Parts: sequence; structure tokens; C-alpha cells
Amino acid sequence: MSSANTDTTEADPGAEYEHYEAVVVGAGPGGAAAAATLASYGVETLVLERGVDAGSKNVSGGLIYAEESAPYTIDRIFDGFREEAAERPITKYYIHNVAGTKVESFDLTDLHESDTEWSDSVLRRKMDSWLAEQVHERTSEAGGGLLTEVHVNGLLEEDGEIVGVTCDELDPIRADLIVAADGVNSELARQAGLMDWERPEEWFQGVKAVVDMDSEEVNERFDIADEEGVAHLFSGDLFDEARGGGFLYTNEDSLSLGTVFHLDSIVEEELESHQLLDALLTHPLLAQWLGDEYHEREYSAKLVPDSKKVALREPYRDNLVLVGDAAGQMQAQGPIIKGMNHAVSAGALAAEAFAESRARGSPGKAGPLYAKKLRDEGVMKKLRPKQYDLLGSLGEREPFAGVVDDVVDSPLGRFGVRLLGSRIETLYNSPFLTSMIPDTRTPYVTLPTVIAEELGTPVRGESHVEPPSLEERIGNLSYNTDIGNPHIVVEDNSIEASGAAVYSCPVSARDFGGGCYREETIRTNGHEEKVVSLDTQPCVECGTCAVVADTTWVHPRGGKGVEFTQG
Ligand SMILES: Cc1cc2nc3c(=O)[nH]c(=O)nc-3n(C[C@H](O)[C@H](O)[C@H](O)COP(=O)(O)OP(=O)(O)OC[C@H]3O[C@@H](n4cnc5c(N)ncnc54)[C@H](O)[C@@H]3O)c2cc1C
Ligand code: SF4
Repeated sequence: MSSANTDTTEADPGAEYEHYEAVVVGAGPGGAAAAATLASYGVETLVLERGVDAGSKNVSGGLIYAEESAPYTIDRIFDGFREEAAERPITKYYIHNVAGTKVESFDLTDLHESDTEWSDSVLRRKMDSWLAEQVHERTSEAGGGLLTEVHVNGLLEEDGEIVGVTCDELDPIRADLIVAADGVNSELARQAGLMDWERPEEWFQGVKAVVDMDSEEVNERFDIADEEGVAHLFSGDLFDEARGGGFLYTNEDSLSLGTVFHLDSIVEEELESHQLLDALLTHPLLAQWLGDEYHEREYSAKLVPDSKKVALREPYRDNLVLVGDAAGQMQAQGPIIKGMNHAVSAGALAAEAFAESRARGSPGKAGPLYAKKLRDEGVMKKLRPKQYDLLGSLGEREPFAGVVDDVVDSPLGRFGVRLLGSRIETLYNSPFLTSMIPDTRTPYVTLPTVIAEELGTPVRGESHVEPPSLEERIGNLSYNTDIGNPHIVVEDNSIEASGAAVYSCPVSARDFGGGCYREETIRTNGHEEKVVSLDTQPCVECGTCAVVADTTWVHPRGGKGVEFTQG
């Protein structure tokens, strides 16, 4: 629904722009992998990051995977990563099917370990700032470096060809390669015409809380040792009709809890994201882990692309290549969420493609070679599995989807669930079946609810968790407000065009006057009209209103806006 600033800047023929062989925009895992790999080939590389510190703008669940089949893994690029930048190895993986207080739990450790060398929980501020130090050191040796608090606001063009970037804080920079590793709300991808923010069904919204818990308590409550960690996932009827689920991951001395939902289901059901998170936090099943003392360190949110629908098959234009979330490379298939690992592979493959093209004397050919490497190395087939295109997406069509849902919930479907019994756990552990799950309410809501009702047992505990209010959550965040420079502008403030932002913005709510979006009544000449108003001060830069409202959406200027300490 929204646009980024779409005016590119035409290069001034008389100007002497600073030039680098490569400019990498964004210092998340994709940008870090790209920059370090470019530096390893001796490519002069400048990394530009808008946050005060790498990671200060970033949010993940987050489990980072090292896949056996991946062309690159983060620890192979950055020696010492697991010891210095990660939280805990995740050694157990469960999903809980929930119906009211009845729960049936499945052990999904086999699925989690399929094609997995290792998987660690991470917090993004710690992880990305550690990566950034390594990147700065390596790129400096190759004649570049990493600069924070620089917001790249657009593309520099010459005769219609992308030749560099423009920034809020620096003069335009020319480069033979521009790596847009600028995440899910990539302004560069949109300015290049490679991505849009049109359809809510192409995105998930992730909302997260990091909760304090000292490491001994983590070990005790989750029955694990120091070098162990657990992932718990949740689906069923605890999130109303929202298609998606909840997660709980153990960190060193905290927990990451959150929800990831298809954005279209939040919009259709008019659900409030923070309430869905609270439904998870206060469910009696979680009482055994959260106890009575609940202290939330940080509340955060971000959009997540659905690679099945948006991963670009040709993620480049001219000298520009897109990697990671900017190219839609976030794999969310049923209980598996893998974005950071693919961003790492893509970043390193883009760098490799540039180094090889440069060695052949044609650096401008890096884009097509990068796309070929994504295919040849098997990355594309994970992001866009053929079985989903053939079967999964068909299963999303009506009336088929509705009929399947009705059958699962019918006496016949329930009989089938009882008959299969514990064998359903084996089916849930199949990577092949997982990769073709349709995005309907059946796998997220109906089936888990029926499983819990037919096979589950009631949870005994009672929750004493009192989550903070939205006001308290916003109050606990740090902001460097850019007074007079709102980074989002509502273009059409009618309820029809932008009303969905009032409930789906994770820091707004219908009955809360203090968030970003509000509904207001305007009275003119005896006529009453409801409109939407926006205050960008409490914005957590998630990107939701870029999709669900009619806005012009850009990131704040370098160093401005929200600053996450956990991520
Ligand atoms: C709630 C939630 C749970 C998730 N769980 C998982 C999980 O368990 N496992 C997993 O692998 N993935 C998970 N993901 C997805 C994962 O976070 C992303 O796939 C991953 O971060 C993508 O990496 P990236 O490098 O492409 O982009 P990002 O990590 O988003 O990094 C982009 C960087 O670019 C910077 N930037 C953006 N625009 C500009 C600009 N114009 N100028 C300068 N800098 C800019 C940003 O500040 C940021 O540092 C989750 C996401 C969410 C929201
Ligand atoms: S104003 Fe928009 S970008 Fe900011 S938090 Fe709300 S929905 Fe997200």
C-alpha cells in the first residue's frame, strides 16, 4: 500500500564522488557476511549502518542455524562466533498444540536437527555488534570500514543505471557493487522497483519480549545444563483466529518469547498484536517456566517476509544486489523459521559472485552470477520449495481450503486424529511435509486445536504473569526522536485506507491514546468523519503500516528513532 521515496538521484557529471569497489548497506547477518567475504577477496568495501550500533535496530526470535547443506555458515565466516556472539545451543525442540487449557506436546527435535550442524539462540544487539567489530577490522584492512549512524536514503543513477547510493548524512558514493542488506523494509529494493509493500499475505508480523531470568533459573526451570537450550513453539486456539504461532527460546540469562503471524490474518481478524503476545505470556502452560516474577527487558516488533511468496528469483539490478530479508529470503515453513542463516549464505554468495566477475574483468555481471549461485547452491529451493508451489499454494484456494478445514474439525477428522495418535508427531517431524504446508487456518489453528482436544491433557498450573501495558512497554524503550522529521507520512487518513494500522501497529491499540496510530473524529459543518492520525515518536520501525496503511514510509535518519538493547 505504501511507497518509499521513489526519486532516485541522477549523478552530476561534473561531481567527483567518493568511490568504493563495494558498498554494503546494513550490518545485519546478511551485510556482515557480504562485507567480510568481500574483504577476504581484497575488495575495498564500505559498510553503512543506520543504527547507533549494529543490532540496535534489529529483532529476531531468534535461532540461528548452521545448515549442513549451506554454502556458508556464520561460524565458518566468523571464527569464534558461537562462543562470543551467541546465547545457548538449542538441543531440544517442542511444539505445543493448545485448545483452552488442554495441551498435546510433540517433540520436534528430529525436524530441528535435520540438515543442522548446530543451532544457537541469539540476541541481536549482542550478536550484530560483535559481528560489526569483526567486519570493521577486516574491511578496514581492505581499504574500507564500517560507519554507523548513516541512513542510505536512495540510489544514485547515471543514464538510468544504478551506480551508487545517496545518504542523509554523507555525500553520494559511487560503487561497482552495491549490496542492499537493509532488511525486510528495504528502501533500496523498493527504489529499484524490485519489491513493494502491497499485499499483507506476503508478510508476517513478529512481536517479541525478552524476559529476565538468571542462568541457574533457566537451567532449573527448563531442566537443562549450562551448554544446553530449549525451543518451545505454540499453536492452536490461544491466538483467536490468527494464522501463526508463538515461540519461547532460552538464552544465557533471559528468555525470548514472541509471536509470528501472517499479517493478512491480523488485518482480517482485526487483532491487536500486543494482546496476542499477552495471550501467550499468560497461558497456564507457561506458568511452569515464567513463575510469578515477570520482568520484561524489552518489547520489540518487525515484519518478516514470506520467502515462499516474495523471495526474488533474480535479486539484482545493474550494480545492485539484494541479500537476506531485502530479497525476501526468510524461510517460514510451519514450525521452522530460518532467515539469518539464509541472509548469511546470500551475502557471502553475492560477494563471491562479485569477486569472480571482477577477476574476469566484468564486475557489472555480478548480479546474474549471484542469482545462479543461489540456485546452484540449493538456497532458492529452500526458500521457494517446488512442493509448496505445486501443492501447498493450491491448498490455499477456496473452496478447497474451507472444505479441508471443515473435514479436520468434523467427527471424521477427529476420528482420524485419534486413530493416528502419536504418529502425528512423526508427520510433524517430516521436512518434506513441512515445506508444503499451506498458509491456511488448518495447520495453524484448526488441526492443533483438534489435536489438543482429542489427544491432550489439561494443564494444571495457573499463570500469575502480569505483562506490562503498552504504555509501560513504550516507556521502557529508548528513542532518539528526530523532532520535526517524521519518517512516516500518512497519505490517505481515511479509515478505509489506513484504519487497519490502529490495531495492527504493535505500539498502537484502539483504546490507547499514546501509541503511533489513533482513530479520531473530525466534525465539520455538522458532518462527522472518522480519520486516522499518526505520531511517529513511539514507532519501533516494524514496517507494518507500510503494508496495511497508505503511507510514504522510510527509516529514520542515521542514529534516530528506536534503539533496541536486546533485539
Ligand atoms: C520476531 C521475529 C522472529 C524471528 N525469528 C527468527 C529465527 O528464529 N531464526 C532466524 O533465522 N530468523 C528469524 N527471524 C528473521 C530474521 O531476523 C531475519 O531474516 C534476518 O535478520 C535477516 O537478516 P538481514 O541481514 O537480511 O537483515 P536485518 O537483520 O534486518 O539487518 C538489516 C540491517 O540494515 C540496516 N538498515 C536498514 N535500512 C538501512 C538504510 N537505509 N541505511 C543503512 N542501514 C540500513 C538495519 O539497521 C539493520 O542493521 C525473525 C524475525 C522476527 C521479527
Ligand atoms: S508506526 Fe508503523 S512502522 Fe512504526 S511501529 Fe507502528 S506499524 Fe510499525
